[in-house]
Amino acid sequence: MTFRIGAHVSISGGVEKAVERQEDIGGNTGQIFAGSPRTWSVSEYTDEEGKMFQEARENEDQNPYVIHSTYLVNLATPKDDLFEKSINCLQAELDAAASLGVEYVVFHPGSHTGSGRDNGIEKIAKGIDELEIPEDVTLLLENTAGKGTTLGKSMGELREIMEKTEKDSGSVGVCIDTCHAHAAGYELAEEEGFHDFLQEIEEDLGLENIKVIHLNDSKDEKGSEKDNHEHIGEGNIGEEGFRNIVNSEKLEEKPMVLETPTSDGKSYKENLEKIKELRDSS
Ligand SMILES: [Zn+2]
Ligand SMILES: [Zn+2]
Repeated sequence: MTFRIGAHVSISGGVEKAVERQEDIGGNTGQIFAGSPRTWSVSEYTDEEGKMFQEARENEDQNPYVIHSTYLVNLATPKDDLFEKSINCLQAELDAAASLGVEYVVFHPGSHTGSGRDNGIEKIAKGIDELEIPEDVTLLLENTAGKGTTLGKSMGELREIMEKTEKDSGSVGVCIDTCHAHAAGYELAEEEGFHDFLQEIEEDLGLENIKVIHLNDSKDEKGSEKDNHEHIGEGNIGEEGFRNIVNSEKLEEKPMVLETPTSDGKSYKENLEKIKELRDSS
């Protein structure tokens, strides 16, 4: 079993450039945006681009890949126009994934903005049901830090959304972000707390539903509900927490993707090496 670790890399200059960037940092799995994450624009990919991307990935053995959805998507919204835009955007991202041979599309479940938790959850499930999920693509709900009226903070809430959709279990899954879990109050840094977290995953969500893990440390305290990613081992999850996560037998088959900061001089490469070091030192 190959340990799969990589990072969220840029597609600027062409999607196949992502594979080169991944190779440069030593990754063997990864994540990209299909367009610009702070706008509604999603690129359409030609067969030729898809072929180039897949060939490059095959040559470097980079599997699987994830498209991270636009941050503007909100399926939980009570506003019809925003809901419609969100559906169209997610659909374009799912189509891009199919064109590129990308296995997963991950999105944040959204905020109900005052319409109430139950309405929000219904709306997300309804939204998922309106999507046409291509055969070889799985749509993933990402757990959230839980700020404000954001949904998807707990394992049980993610399960509830999955159960409310009419999609079969093969087309919808979950991505766990370690920074968000910590911000939502889950203990990852201490062994006992981490064990409880895994137990909650197994009981409330099902380990098999987790398809991808986002590895990010957190700048904030546990339970802060704040989503500020930090370099691996340098935040409040810390080295001990990541030692727990990357050496867990229950998570060892899950592809892990770094979304650590990139604007402060420290690279993904260093974070990736840190993870490998924490795996070796257990
Ligand atoms: Zn995310
Ligand atoms: Zn994430």
